[in-house]
Amino acid sequence: MADKKVSKKDIAKLLKEWSQQFAVLAPSKESGVAAFAEWDGKDTGFLDWYRNTVIPPKASFLPPMEEMFRFRKGKEGYNIEPPPNDENKRLIFGIRPCDARAMSILDMTFKQALEDPYYLSKRKNAVLVGLGCTNPYESCFCTSMGTGPTESADVDIMLIDIGDDFLIEEVTDKGKELIAKTKDLKEAAKDDGAKAEQAKKTAYDKVTRKLDTEGIKDKLLASFDDEEYWEKVAAKCISCGICTLLCPTCYCFDINDEMVKQEGTRFRSWDSCGFPNYTKMPMENPRQEKWRRVRQKVCHKYEFYPMTYDVIACTGCGRCIRLCPVNWDITQVIESVPDKTGAKK
Ligand code: SF4
Ligand code: SF4
Repeated sequence: MADKKVSKKDIAKLLKEWSQQFAVLAPSKESGVAAFAEWDGKDTGFLDWYRNTVIPPKASFLPPMEEMFRFRKGKEGYNIEPPPNDENKRLIFGIRPCDARAMSILDMTFKQALEDPYYLSKRKNAVLVGLGCTNPYESCFCTSMGTGPTESADVDIMLIDIGDDFLIEEVTDKGKELIAKTKDLKEAAKDDGAKAEQAKKTAYDKVTRKLDTEGIKDKLLASFDDEEYWEKVAAKCISCGICTLLCPTCYCFDINDEMVKQEGTRFRSWDSCGFPNYTKMPMENPRQEKWRRVRQKVCHKYEFYPMTYDVIACTGCGRCIRLCPVNWDITQVIESVPDKTGAKK
């Protein structure tokens, strides 16, 4: 449903209003790289520079480093003190559809595999306000991955750029409720719907990179033991881990205890299956060779995740292509997987 709109020059007013109920997070370059950060109450300059963030929005729900609990060793054993549930109301303003899709994929991991209270408590009261892309990167391939630059399926509210205004699509009940309570929105004009459709078509056409994923799960399964192929795929990777740490659907973490005398804190922090020392505890990394680690990264997204959840855990956000220091390109890899499925039949 889209019968309301907001003028671009009134976005600060809108965010101020929402800030009274939510911790509003918006694109920011304050930390040196584009990331979602608490809105400063005035700056809407991101409307001009923002294409997508470097740090994906998963960081607001699965922080790079997070305290899990504190502990103290007593005579009777350990006394555990968990942190209070973080159920603060967050509003992520401007999430791109690919990253909203990634949040739905992460929800599957943290809800279905095992309920993760740290992630779920933050996610519970969060509202995702999407901003349709008008200027996708060359590395984006979202339209091949079940989403698209103006797709609203994974957000609560979607804003579509129609010139001087954003047309507002109320997607979920949460989104409808918030819009119903929001003051000073304008009624959409008769031709705004048509303007939005045109804007969507233009945005869609700008995503020129395409990826054919037909049968990829079976192809990967059939090529799993092809060491020569995986060695070639992994050759230029330097195991820096950037592609996994900044991937909006990757969720590996490591757990560490820091203890001084009888007291300590347990933390978890982002980790990467690309690191040689990943999974080193309690013995050794079963993927010592680089090609095994690169294979794990690719197969986890395009083979294992579809086997478990029936979806590919890649949204085509293109970060791993844009940000890799050696130009390793997942779309080239997926296209190069040999089709040995016939041989297995
Ligand atoms: S970002 Fe590139 S070099 Fe770094 S681990 Fe990923 S593929 Fe390898
Ligand atoms: S694998 Fe690459 S393109 Fe796919 S979601 Fe992760 S970072 Fe984005």
